[in-house]
Amino acid sequence: SRRSPDVLIIGAGAAGLMAAFTAARRGRRVVVLDHAPEVGRKILISGGGRCNFTNTEMRAERFISQNRHFARSALSRYTPSQFLELLAAHKIPWHEKKLGQLFCDNSARDIVQMLLAECAAAHVTILTDVRITEVTKPQDFRVQTSAGTFTSKALVLATGGLSIPKLGATSFSYNIARYFGLSVISPEPALVPLVFGKPEESWVQSLAGVSLPVRASCGKTGFDEALLFTHRGLSGPALLQISSYWEANQPVRIDLLPGQDMTAHLAALKKAKSQMKGPAALSRWLPHRLAQELARQSAPEERPVVEWSDRTLRALGERIHRLDLHPTGTEGFAKAEVTRGGVDTRKLSSKTMEAQTVPNLYVIGEAVDVTGWLGGYNFHWAWASGYVAGEALGES
Ligand code: FAD
Repeated sequence: SRRSPDVLIIGAGAAGLMAAFTAARRGRRVVVLDHAPEVGRKILISGGGRCNFTNTEMRAERFISQNRHFARSALSRYTPSQFLELLAAHKIPWHEKKLGQLFCDNSARDIVQMLLAECAAAHVTILTDVRITEVTKPQDFRVQTSAGTFTSKALVLATGGLSIPKLGATSFSYNIARYFGLSVISPEPALVPLVFGKPEESWVQSLAGVSLPVRASCGKTGFDEALLFTHRGLSGPALLQISSYWEANQPVRIDLLPGQDMTAHLAALKKAKSQMKGPAALSRWLPHRLAQELARQSAPEERPVVEWSDRTLRALGERIHRLDLHPTGTEGFAKAEVTRGGVDTRKLSSKTMEAQTVPNLYVIGEAVDVTGWLGGYNFHWAWASGYVAGEALGES
């Protein structure tokens, strides 16, 4: 009956729904429970309402995890083209925006409807508005809820990460994983704007609204994309990407003119006996307000370039290519697109997502310590991890 399916999945998001119809197509009776009134709400708001559902440049190096290789197996068994075949079967139009990022032409709702249609065709039962109060495993799994008690041989944790609590994000999967003896890598906001609280860097906020292409890096990792100054700090794709690698007290290095040589540009101006002052000179390559601010900080702004010493010129050039900023924090889970950290992969099978120490317990999607880059990687992880779990459940 519906109270004792073969497979019980908690969380009707991207990963949970994918696992549900994948297992159900293979003959398993599947029930999915979600506390939200509506399934897939993160899908609906994603990618500005058009859902960046995958990326053609899929590879394990574009995921962050304590175990760098963990994502490889699932990604190789469920590829972007497999997801595109599913879209084709449902006649859902899509396009590439940039950098391999694939979006729906119409609406993210197409994706949710597709997942629901697949679940319906495979006779998956989805129950929304269900609160889970307790999970135990006397023999099979036993899940107490506001809709009664469910028992099942297999349990799948698919409740996602902590980002956007107002959409109903909870630590459910982490708590249950811990209860069953798995460990959890500290969940932190990722793909999130960074904030600046140090007085000497308060000028960052004064540039709110300025944006430009940069290279943002932390240690050896760097991203060439747009940077946006906000009234709280820094955002934009380059900064969101690097936020996933940023650790407290570490600087973020910004190259404000990647691929060019600012010192050479300024030297050429000096050689041409330019009468331009700092702000005007720097504005030739940088947004005006940023140029003004940098000139104010480090150039003799009142004197024309022709009078600058070579040392001044070099120092300014270097600063523009290697601006080290010291974020004091992030905008938190309220503004984070994803959660870094999560259920430790060391006790999970990378082929099936099953817990090695607890047979028939699976953890999938964002709840796992696998975090993708910005650009469709996180949904693809949800599809791939959900798919391999669903396949394994179908075979068990
Ligand atoms: P979710 O999709 O979050 O699903 C989890 C489900 O579990 C939800 O339905 C929730 O209601 C339910 N749940 C939670 N707690 C409980 C509980 N205690 N009991 C019962 N049910 C519970 N990624 C991309 O790849 N491309 C994008 O364009 C993109 N845009 C995004 C935009 C925004 C604003 C945000 C916040 C995220 C975006 N992401 C994007 C990230 C992506 O949405 C997630 O990585 C993905 O949804 C994770 O899938 P999941 O199935 O693991 O979790």
